[in-house]
Amino acid sequence: MAKLELAKIGNPVLRKKLEQVDPGILSDRKFRKLLKDMADTMRAAEGVGLAANQVGKDLAVAVIECKSNVRYPEEDTIPLEFYLNPVIIDYSEEKINGWEGCLSIPGYRGLVARSASVTFEAVDSSGESVRRTVSGFWARVLQHEVDHLNGLFYMDRMADLQNWVHLDEFNKAFETRVHDE
Ligand code: ZN
Repeated sequence: MAKLELAKIGNPVLRKKLEQVDPGILSDRKFRKLLKDMADTMRAAEGVGLAANQVGKDLAVAVIECKSNVRYPEEDTIPLEFYLNPVIIDYSEEKINGWEGCLSIPGYRGLVARSASVTFEAVDSSGESVRRTVSGFWARVLQHEVDHLNGLFYMDRMADLQNWVHLDEFNKAFETRVHDE
């Protein structure tokens, strides 16, 4: 299992709009290894999503997965999926507030209103073009990751930075024991 180094806020690659990838790259062994390493890195850090710039790569690629996650213990299950060039084409008007963290901003949580459901297009890891509508936590994670591919952090989406808190204070206030590396 290869664990890649995580880029942290302040690293310029996290503020880049990432390069679109040609789906033909899926037959490249080095690219397949990158996808696997991204999944390994996300799992090792107890993340629920990871964008390629978070491991220093200028590629519009993200991975997501949520299975009984210790950092998000209450949330829905999301299968392991890879998205190349994901684009959100429709956002529900209904928005839901939720607390988000980020592996590139360890130790913090912020309250972010996200669309309750979104429709997106992407190329999956088998090279198929997919268009899908997802809701709940899946929709939230997808919006967070697509933001990364456009150089945005969750704080850029926050209505009120007074709801940006250190994890120690978050745990005191909510009695939900979550931790970051
Ligand atoms: Zn993030």
